[in-house]
Amino acid sequence: MLQYAIGVDLGGTNYRAAAITLDGQLLKKVSGATRSYEGSDAVLDSLVNAIQELRQELSEHRLIGVGIGVPGFIDIATGTIVGSNNLPELDGFPIRQKIEARLGTPVILENDANAAALGESWIGAGREVDSLVLLTLGTGIGGGIILDNQILHGYKGMAGELGHLTVVPNGNPCGCGNRGCLEKHASARAIEAMAILLGLNEGETITAAQVYDLAKAGNDRAKLVFTCMGEYLGIALAGLINTFNAPLYLLSGGPLPAWDFFAPAMFEEVTKRSFTFANAKTRIEKATLGNQAGLYGSAYLPIQAQKSLI
Ligand SMILES: [Zn+2]
Repeated sequence: MLQYAIGVDLGGTNYRAAAITLDGQLLKKVSGATRSYEGSDAVLDSLVNAIQELRQELSEHRLIGVGIGVPGFIDIATGTIVGSNNLPELDGFPIRQKIEARLGTPVILENDANAAALGESWIGAGREVDSLVLLTLGTGIGGGIILDNQILHGYKGMAGELGHLTVVPNGNPCGCGNRGCLEKHASARAIEAMAILLGLNEGETITAAQVYDLAKAGNDRAKLVFTCMGEYLGIALAGLINTFNAPLYLLSGGPLPAWDFFAPAMFEEVTKRSFTFANAKTRIEKATLGNQAGLYGSAYLPIQAQKSLI
């Protein structure tokens, strides 16, 4: 009987769930609306139905467990989400316990960026190394740290909040209370804000993709936006490299196509600021699983838990 796990990537608007074998083969995937606006029980129903659908379809196989990547902090001990900007309806809701009770299968919750880092480490860009750090560049910046094949949780499960590393003293204010956080200076949203400051927008707004198009067309101000972004990423990465001495640092997310515009400044900054980078063989590369990383990483949570029992 072929064994498999189910990975769920739970977002503020949509979820995706996939049945994945123990060696990383995707058997079947479903997706749908999270329905968070209807409250926590509606989210629970959505997830339970998705998992049921996969389970029924694959009834000839054996489900070993479910892993769920969620945007927010997880209280690992109680299996609750404590503080999610994207899913405030689930704050304090014992989602792990509820799903386990309805499905009779073990459930593991994880922060979505941690799950993505685990996915890259399992079958993505990091499959050849034991330790890596992932930065996911989106509206904000998420981070996941894998050390010796394990997610670094910290003592309360809050490690890896790399988007809130300070890269500009007294820089842009951030929702976390700090100023100058990495995500306020190097995320897709930060690219848009910088572009507006430089007057690159025609209407009220501009997207990071449009800034990229302008840079490709040779616009110097658009190129400057990416140079700045690269410098801020480099500052953060130098600190991470000096801290962890991992062999691999990965970037993923919407701004990645602009790599050729931001990476030179990033590498220059890292080289200046990290003795370790310059003297140990350290790679900074694009992640390879894209937006599937969280799905694979979530599925790997119960697989890894089972492995550790053997
Ligand atoms: Zn912050």
